[in-house]
Amino acid sequence: MAVKIDTDVCVGCGCCSDVCTPGALELRETAEVNQAFCIECKQCIDMCPALAIRLPAAQE
Ligand code: SF4
Ligand code: SF4
Repeated sequence: MAVKIDTDVCVGCGCCSDVCTPGALELRETAEVNQAFCIECKQCIDMCPALAIRLPAAQE
C-alpha cells in the first residue's frame, strides 16, 4: 500500500516531495508516488496544503 495523490486537487507545490525521506514522491505537473518506495510515514499528508494526499486504507 502507498499514499494516493488526487491529481485534480494537487497544485504541484512540491511540499510533499521535500519531506519524503525515501524519495517516493516525484514532482512533475503534479506529484507522483513510486509505490515501491513509500513506507506510509504520512509526512506528506501532513504537509500537503491542498489535502490532495491520502492513504486509501484509512478511508475504507
Ligand atoms: S507516506 Fe511517507 S514515504 Fe510515503 S510518499 Fe508520503 S512522505 Fe513519502
Ligand atoms: S504537497 Fe500536495 S499539492 Fe503539493 S505537490 Fe504534493 S500532493 Fe501536490
